[in-house]
Amino acid sequence: MNHEDRVIGIDLGTTYSVLAVIVDGAPRLVPVKNERLLPSVVGVSPQGEVMVGYPARNQWVVAPERTIRSIKRKMGKGENVTMAGRTYTPQEISAFILREMMAAARVALGHPVTRAVITVPAYFNEVQRQATLEAGAIAGLTVERIINEPTASALAYGYGLSNDEHLKALVYDLGGGTFDVSIIELNQGVVDVLATAGDNYLGGDDFDERLAGMIADEFRDAHGIDLRQKHQAWARLQRAAEEAKIELSSMPYATVNLEYVANDKKGKPLHIRREVERGEFVELIDDLLQRTLASVDKALQDASLTPRDVDRVLLVGGSTRIPAVWDLMAERMGKDPHGEIDPDAAVALGAAVQAGIIAGEEIDAVLVDVTPFSLGIETVRMSFTGQMQQDVFARLVRGNTTIPVSKSEVFTTIYPGQKDIRIRVYQGESQIASHNTLLGEFMVEDLKSNRPDRLTDVTVNFALDVNGILDVSVLERKTGKLVSERLKANRQRLSPEQISESQAKLAEVYAARDEEEEVEAVTAFDPGVSALLERASGVLEHTELDAQLASEISGVIADIHRANAEDDTDRMEELCDELIDLIMEAEE
Ligand code: ADP
Ligand code: MG
Repeated sequence: MNHEDRVIGIDLGTTYSVLAVIVDGAPRLVPVKNERLLPSVVGVSPQGEVMVGYPARNQWVVAPERTIRSIKRKMGKGENVTMAGRTYTPQEISAFILREMMAAARVALGHPVTRAVITVPAYFNEVQRQATLEAGAIAGLTVERIINEPTASALAYGYGLSNDEHLKALVYDLGGGTFDVSIIELNQGVVDVLATAGDNYLGGDDFDERLAGMIADEFRDAHGIDLRQKHQAWARLQRAAEEAKIELSSMPYATVNLEYVANDKKGKPLHIRREVERGEFVELIDDLLQRTLASVDKALQDASLTPRDVDRVLLVGGSTRIPAVWDLMAERMGKDPHGEIDPDAAVALGAAVQAGIIAGEEIDAVLVDVTPFSLGIETVRMSFTGQMQQDVFARLVRGNTTIPVSKSEVFTTIYPGQKDIRIRVYQGESQIASHNTLLGEFMVEDLKSNRPDRLTDVTVNFALDVNGILDVSVLERKTGKLVSERLKANRQRLSPEQISESQAKLAEVYAARDEEEEVEAVTAFDPGVSALLERASGVLEHTELDAQLASEISGVIADIHRANAEDDTDRMEELCDELIDLIMEAEE
């Protein structure tokens, strides 16, 4: 494929923007400055330099007047913004973000990119779509197509790629600042948007604010200081709340930790240290989650459909990682939602699929690694009449969860003074534990009770790695004492039918390739360098590295691509030596 023919896919999001391209027939995320997601934040530094992404997001805490967030909400509204004393149109601010994406694509692909598919919410009107095209033009991008975000999500799941497919999908997209629900119908390659509903001011930011607000209230009651009135402290508290919120998606509790948030009357520094339980957090945001369900009902009603008429429920947007969202939707729709594709990447991956189709590339099925079964332990439940219900399956990891994944839950012993617990690990979907497949069991002994009622709280953690190997560990909640056991579970990719379909498709592609000339690689590297890069990505994928080393390696890889694009051979040699050293260090 010629450079000029390549088209990139861009999810230009309210809080995060994401870049993806087709590589070897499948959509892949392209990191922007070594991160999967680029915060949609633009700023100007005190030195007058433009900053996009994390640096700008950090600057917002200290200098909001030089920083712009959530510009997407203003697209096509004829309202300008001021950044560091200058006025900008929303298109211009968005163009800064697009420029950053183009630069990242250039680094990753080794050549300039000028064509893109950009996604917009299904409810965006003509003016808003036009503004998006203009943002592209300002950035120097030819926007080949604007596609609806729910359509992109469906494409990411491979729906609509086959002409004889006919299905209705409900896409529930809960992001950082917005919530959209769309019902789409795919019919012989044509996508109809049957209904959309949602709330332009509802998302993860509100959840952060609820949690931060609760802690600010407690702080005010204790110290008589309202943190909401102090921009910097409030911004820091919101950031800390977001971190805790994200942790609560996989852990039963998280701690909001903030040092030096304010001084008391005597000038003594005050800190915050507040543990939050998952249930407490879910209660804080429950009315917001219920509001999303009201939109789901409205969309169904507008499309004259009942939940039964919907074939697929797709969860996209970073906030759908909150387990309560999955539970609520499973209950409301009467079927398990799909969330196998990284919820914050789905839209960009779908944009890349559309981009690939426009560029005339062969598109394979999208492969994701998921755990095919639910995993959990046997528990005993006490009904409020005091009756013991035995053999109850407590799911820690749901079927179809993308791996790797780590989940924890707190369990309590049954009778006062109980010293031992037998942990039985099962895989399967039955509520009755013993109807599932027993993967293994082990004893936790010598427990010390850690509650006033002489019961013991323990945290059970399930960690499933990329190879489907399950590691179960149990910690006494108070003492932190650890018992660990390794269990083997099978990994499976998609369904067998989907796999053979993909294989047949691949075979076709290979056959076609034999007849054609040698296909041009993404970047023409010297074979020695290619081999080295391959080894480096192998190390990144298969070795457990500390974050520092991994990021050094990816940094050098990016530099090598850049040096190659600039044809700088001396720099290439230098960088290759550096990479070899890092690989040796990693392989040790
Ligand atoms: P948008 O489409 O609005 O740009 P995203 O779909 O990327 O945004 O979602 C961003 C939101 O997802 C943020 O509020 C972020 O805090 C939230 N988020 C990301 N990961 C998690 C997680 N593991 N649990 C809960 N919320 C998460
Ligand atoms: Mg989004």
